[in-house]
Amino acid sequence: MDAREAACSCGQLRLTAGGDPVRISMCHCLACQRRTGSAFGMQARFPADRIRVVGRHTDYVRRSDHGEDRTYRFCPDCGATVFYTTEDAPEVIAVPIGAFADPSFPRPTVSVWESRRHAWISVPDGADREH
Ligand SMILES: [Zn+2]
Ligand SMILES: [Zn+2]
Repeated sequence: MDAREAACSCGQLRLTAGGDPVRISMCHCLACQRRTGSAFGMQARFPADRIRVVGRHTDYVRRSDHGEDRTYRFCPDCGATVFYTTEDAPEVIAVPIGAFADPSFPRPTVSVWESRRHAWISVPDGADREH
């Protein structure tokens, strides 16, 4: 797999992710619902050394439902989050899948916070379910 490109809504903040993600998950936690404005969050994680970021970003730190700090990096002009990092795994960078705007992006293999999943949302066959 070659590099994939992610970007914010206005294109000011861009990111290149080389190779395949090490984890692709969907998260139903309430914090992800608020952050995305959607019914769940979806993200792909890459080793930090395979990510290149170009552009300005503003950072927002919030405590996750699991109790660790997560730092969201979003475009100061349009507000879209393009990547985030977690305190417990700084060697990995998470990229919201929507930032790739690529309908052929591989499906999630993990579904997190099942207890907060909207009942109508189905999870891909074979995905691991947590909580
Ligand atoms: Zn932007
Ligand atoms: Zn979440």
